[in-house]
Amino acid sequence: MRSAHGRSGPGVCTFRGCCPGCRADRLLPGRGATGTPICRDCAGIARDFFCDRCGFEGLLLGGRLCERCTLTDTLGRLLDDGTGHVAASLQPLVTSLKEMDRPKSRLIWLRNPNVVRLLRGGRRQHPAHPRRAALGNTLANRRPPA
Ligand SMILES: [Zn+2]
Ligand SMILES: [Zn+2]
Repeated sequence: MRSAHGRSGPGVCTFRGCCPGCRADRLLPGRGATGTPICRDCAGIARDFFCDRCGFEGLLLGGRLCERCTLTDTLGRLLDDGTGHVAASLQPLVTSLKEMDRPKSRLIWLRNPNVVRLLRGGRRQHPAHPRRAALGNTLANRRPPA
């Protein structure tokens, strides 16, 4: 049993750091001769890891978008006030969530229906939300206690 420090499991093999081959601080999906994480250029990996939207090199979710862009989309979808946009009152929340470190943790956090319900608690000024039925009555009807 090896004690890999830091990262949380043997499945985690893609992270950022300073590539020992080219000294660039970037994603290190490859492995050098000694098992050292190296960047895709040094490892000769043909697949790229650049986000389709912002060009950030990182772990791409759904194939093409980085964690941060995925988080932006997820927040936009969850907090859509019915106009296709996040309500102005929730924008500061969205901004602070996006600026936090570890967007992946925020994404996992947003999978919790209780969290989503709490976040959406601020939307009650739009009771006639047209997409409410589609989103499920549980979300729309159950509000956090005042
Ligand atoms: Zn490199
Ligand atoms: Zn991105």
